[in-house]
Amino acid sequence: MASVNKSTVKDNVKSSKALKMVYFFNEGNKDMKELLGGKGANLAEMTNLGVPVPAGFTITTETCHLYYENGKKLPTGLKEQVDSKIAQLEKTMGAKFNDPVNPLLVSVRSGAASSMPGMMDTILNLGINDKVVEALIRKTKNERFAWDTYRRFIQMFGNVVMEVEHHAFEEEIHKIKSRRGVQLDTELTANDLKELVKSYKALVLKITKKSFPENPITQLNMAIEAVFGSWNNARAITYRKLNDIHGLKGTAVNVQSMVFGNMGDTSGTGVCFSRNPSTGENKFYGEYLMNAQGEDVVAGIRTPQSIDQLAKQNAVVYKQLVAVRDKLEKHYKDMQDMEFTIQEGKLYILQTRNGKRTAHAALRVAVEMVGEKLIDKKTAVLRVEPNQLDQVLHKQIDPVAKKKGELIARGLPASPGAAVGKIVFTAQRAEELSKNNEKMILVRTETSPEDLIGMNVSKGILTARGGMTSHAAVVARGMGKCCVSGCQDIEVDEKNKTLVIKKTGLKLKELEYLTLDGSTGEVFKGQLNLVEPSLSGNFETLMKWADEFRTLKIRTNADIPRDAKVAKTFGAEGIGLCRTEHMFFEGDRIKAMREMILAETLEARKKALAKLLPFQKSDFLGLFREMNGMPVTIRLLDPPLHEFLPQEEKEIAELSKELKITTQKIKSISASLHEVNPMLGHRGCRLGITYPEITEMQVQAIMEAACELTKQKINVMPEIMVPLVGNVKELQHQKEIIKRVADATLAKYKVQLKYMVGTMIEVPRAALIADAIAQEAEFFSFGTNDLTQMTLGFSRDDISKFLPEYLHKNILEKDPFAVLDQTGVGQLVQMAVTKGRSVKKDLKMGICGEHGGEPSSIAFCHKIGLNYVSCSPYRVPIARLAAAHAALKSAK
Ligand code: ADP
Ligand code: MG
Ligand code: MG
Repeated sequence: MASVNKSTVKDNVKSSKALKMVYFFNEGNKDMKELLGGKGANLAEMTNLGVPVPAGFTITTETCHLYYENGKKLPTGLKEQVDSKIAQLEKTMGAKFNDPVNPLLVSVRSGAASSMPGMMDTILNLGINDKVVEALIRKTKNERFAWDTYRRFIQMFGNVVMEVEHHAFEEEIHKIKSRRGVQLDTELTANDLKELVKSYKALVLKITKKSFPENPITQLNMAIEAVFGSWNNARAITYRKLNDIHGLKGTAVNVQSMVFGNMGDTSGTGVCFSRNPSTGENKFYGEYLMNAQGEDVVAGIRTPQSIDQLAKQNAVVYKQLVAVRDKLEKHYKDMQDMEFTIQEGKLYILQTRNGKRTAHAALRVAVEMVGEKLIDKKTAVLRVEPNQLDQVLHKQIDPVAKKKGELIARGLPASPGAAVGKIVFTAQRAEELSKNNEKMILVRTETSPEDLIGMNVSKGILTARGGMTSHAAVVARGMGKCCVSGCQDIEVDEKNKTLVIKKTGLKLKELEYLTLDGSTGEVFKGQLNLVEPSLSGNFETLMKWADEFRTLKIRTNADIPRDAKVAKTFGAEGIGLCRTEHMFFEGDRIKAMREMILAETLEARKKALAKLLPFQKSDFLGLFREMNGMPVTIRLLDPPLHEFLPQEEKEIAELSKELKITTQKIKSISASLHEVNPMLGHRGCRLGITYPEITEMQVQAIMEAACELTKQKINVMPEIMVPLVGNVKELQHQKEIIKRVADATLAKYKVQLKYMVGTMIEVPRAALIADAIAQEAEFFSFGTNDLTQMTLGFSRDDISKFLPEYLHKNILEKDPFAVLDQTGVGQLVQMAVTKGRSVKKDLKMGICGEHGGEPSSIAFCHKIGLNYVSCSPYRVPIARLAAAHAALKSAK
C-alpha cells in the first residue's frame, strides 16, 4: 500500500508540470466549485456575467492537495504558472508589481468548495513596500490612504504568514491612539500611520527575528503557502468537523487586484444579502462602513450602518448595488450573500455565495421563491436542511412572562429563538460548565473563531460589539443558536467577570441568570419562562410539500398520551415504539411493580401483577384513543428487573414496612438480581420467558383496552413487539402466549380486531437468521441502539469515556449511537431486510432507535426500503423533511 501511495505522489508531482493549476477569472464558472473553491467559481461566474469584479486568478484546490502530498512544498511548475498569470493581470490592470508610477496590489484569498467564512486566511494589499508606498502617495495624492494600506498589509501578513499574534499589533494601535488621544482608527493621521508602520516592522523583527519581505513576488509566494497552510489550522478543522464537511481537496487561492474602500469618505466596504437572512423577508439587507477595508465590517471594529443609509449617502452606487443584487439572485435562483467595496464612488463586487440563513428565513425564502416562480417545489424542499428545522421548533419567551420581565438591555436580533442560562465570560468556561450539563449564556465583547466550541455548548450568545454580520451572529445562525449581538448598552469586563449595564449601572456577575430573545435583541435579567413555537405558515406549507415527495412513513417513539399528541401535531403517522416499562415508575405503580418482583411464589406474583393490570390498561386506553386510526407498536417489558428496586436505605425501609418483608430479605433479593453486565443479562424476552405471567398481564391490558375502545368506534391497531429476540424459539414461545391471551380477550369481549405480533431486530444473531424469524413475525422493528451496542461491542452508557478520543484521533468520524454506522451495523440491517422479505414479501419494517430521527440514517432507511422510521416527537418534522430529501435525491 505504502509504495503505491508514494508513487502516486511522485506521479502527481511530476505531472503537475503539465497540470493546469491556475485559472484566470474568465476561464472558470460557477459549476467549478470543487476545483476553484466556492469563492473562485463565483468570482469567475460574476466576471462572465459582466458584474464589476476586480480582475484576478485562482489557484486550484488540487494544487493545495498536491502541496500537502508533497510534504508541504509548493508543487513544481506552480511558480511559472503564477508568474504568467501575474503578467496577464498586470497587462489587464495596466499596473505592475513594484511599479514606481502605477503599482499593482493584490489580495490573496482562501476559499474551499464549501464556504467556511472567516476560518481560513486572507491577506489584503500585497505588493506594498517602502518604495511602493511612496508611489501610491504620488499616484493618489492621498498620504493617509497609502500609509493605512501599508500598515494593514504588515498587520495581516505579519499575523498570517509570519505568525505574530494579532493582539501584539492591536497593542501598537492602542498605544498610538492613546498617545494621540483618539478613539477610532479613522482619526489617526497619515503621520500616525507612518509611525505605526515603523513600529509594526520593529515588532515583527523583534518577535520573528526576520525582516519584513519587500519583494512582491516573495510576498506572494509566502502568502500562497500560508493560505494553503490555513486549510489545516485548528479552527478550520473544528469548523469542518462541526459542519460535517468531509472529503474536500483543500482550499483554492484567489489572487485578485485590490480595490480600496479606505481611500476616504467616498470609499467604503460592506456586506449585503439579497433578502433578510434572519427573517427571509424579500427586502435588500446589509451593512457597510465608509472609509474602511475588508474585514472592518465583520470584525465589529466600528458599528456599521444599515444599507438603507447608502441610498441617501450615494444614490448612484446604491442603485448599482440593487441592480447587482437583482441580477445575481435571478441568476443563482437563491438568496445571495455579497461583499462589495466602493472605491471613490465606484462599486466593485468581491464575493457572492448562497447566503446562510436561519431556519425561519430558509422556509420563507423557499416558499416565497416558489410563489415568485423562481424555483419549483422540489427545489424548495431541498433548500431547507432537515436538521435546521430544530430552530423553528425552538422556544420563545412566554409573552406573559416577557411583559413582567426586567428588560435590561437591547442589542441586535442576530439569531432567533430564546435562551435562558447562566452568564459565562469565556468560551473555555462554557466548555468546562457544559460537562456538568449547565445551561450557559456566553457573554463577550465580541467573539472570534477560537470561541467556536464554547459557543456550541452555550444556549445563547450575547456580544457588546459587532453587527448582524459579525462573527457571533453568523456562527450563531449557523448553529441555530439564539444570539443578540452589538449590544451597546452593556460593558463586558472579562477579567473581573462582570457585565455592567451602562445606563443603570446594574452589575451582573458570572453564573447569574440571563434570558435572551434573539428574535428581538432583548436582554432580560433572570430566568423567564420559555414556550414552544407555533407551526403554521411557511413551515406548514413546506412540510406539506415534503410529504408529497416522501415515501417513508414517519412514526414516533412515545410512551404517554401527551407525547403522542405532540408528535401528532408534528405530523407523526403512528407510534413506532411505546416502552411499557416507563409506565411503571409513577406513584402506586412502582409499589405494585416491586411487590411483583419481590414475590416468591407464582401466586404472589400473579396477585401483584393483577394490581398492575389496571394501570397498564388505562395507559393504553389513553394512547390508543390519542392515536385513533393509527398503528401503535407496544414493546413488552424490556429492562432488567433490578432497575425497579430501591437502592437507598430509607426507601428500602419504607418498602419493607409496606410489603411486610424484612429489609434483609429485600436486600438479598436485590443482590440476587444484581447483574455484572445487565445490558447483556436478564432482560428483553428473557423476562417474559422466565415469567410468562408478565407477558400475559401486558397482553391482557393491551387487548382489553383495544376491545373497549373498538366498542366505542375508535379504530385501534395494536402491534405487539417482543424485544431482544436472537433465537426463533424465543419468539415462538412468546408468540404462543400473546396469541392465546389476545384471542381469549377478543372472545370475551366479542370483538373483531386485527392485531399483529412482531419482533425487534436488535441482537446481531436476529439479523443473521432474519429469514427464520420472519416465519414467525408479522413485522420487524430495528432497535438500532442495542444493535449498535452489540455489533460494535460499545456500551452506550460508557462510550463517553473513550468517544472523544476516538473522534479526536479520527478512529471514528461520528458517534455511532447518533449516526447509524452504515458500513457495519447497516450491513446487518440490510441483510435482515433482504432475508425477511425473502420469506414475506410485504413484511412491514421500521426503525425505532435514536437513528430514526437523524437525516443521514433516514436516507439509509429509505435506500434499503424500510416502511417507516420512528423518532422522538420533536424530531418528527426533521424526519419528514429528511425522508423527502432522501426520496428526491435518490430519484435524481
Ligand atoms: P473570507 O472568506 O474570510 O470572507 P475574503 O477572502 O472574502 O475572506 O476577504 C476578506 C475581506 O477582504 C472581505 O471583506 C473582502 O471583501 C475583502 N477583500 C478581499 N479581496 C479584496 C480586494 N481585492 N479588494 C478589496 N477588498 C478585498
Ligand atoms: Mg468573504
Ligand atoms: Mg433494545
